[in-house]
Amino acid sequence: MNSKAKTRIAACGCGQLSAEVRGEPLDVYLCSCTDCQRLSGSSYSYQAIFPPDAVTVKGERKTWRHHGESGRWLENVFCPDCGNTVVCLGEIGPEIGICVGTFAESDFPPPQRVYWASRRHRWLELPEEAELFDKQPGL
Ligand SMILES: [Zn+2]
Ligand SMILES: [Zn+2]
Repeated sequence: MNSKAKTRIAACGCGQLSAEVRGEPLDVYLCSCTDCQRLSGSSYSYQAIFPPDAVTVKGERKTWRHHGESGRWLENVFCPDCGNTVVCLGEIGPEIGICVGTFAESDFPPPQRVYWASRRHRWLELPEEAELFDKQPGL
C-alpha cells in the first residue's frame, strides 16, 4: 500500500468500534432498499467499498447476518455498546463496505450509483452523474 495514501477513521457513535481505512474507495453508492432504510434509520445507506487489505477494524464487535434478495448473505458488523454498524461484509466478495456516515467527513466522495432508486424518498436530490438502478445487482 502506498505510504502517502490518505488514512481515514470510521467510528461508531460511542467510539469503541473503529475501522482505519487506507487509500480511496473502490466504489461509493447509496442503497434505498427497505432493509437499508430500516437498518440505517435513514432514507438510504451510504456505503464505500475498500479492498480488504486497506481496512483494519479495532474494538469489540458483534455481527448480524441476513440475506439479500438473491439469497446471498450480508453481514453487519456493529458496536455491542451503542449498536452502530460501521462495517458491512458480503458473500459476493472479499471487499469491505464502510458506512460512510461513520467517517463524519463532509467532503467524502459522493455516490456513483443509487440502488433501489425507485424506493428512495422523493425529496432526495442526487448528483447528476449518479447512475440509478432498480435493484442492487448480485445482492
Ligand atoms: Zn459504539
Ligand atoms: Zn439496501
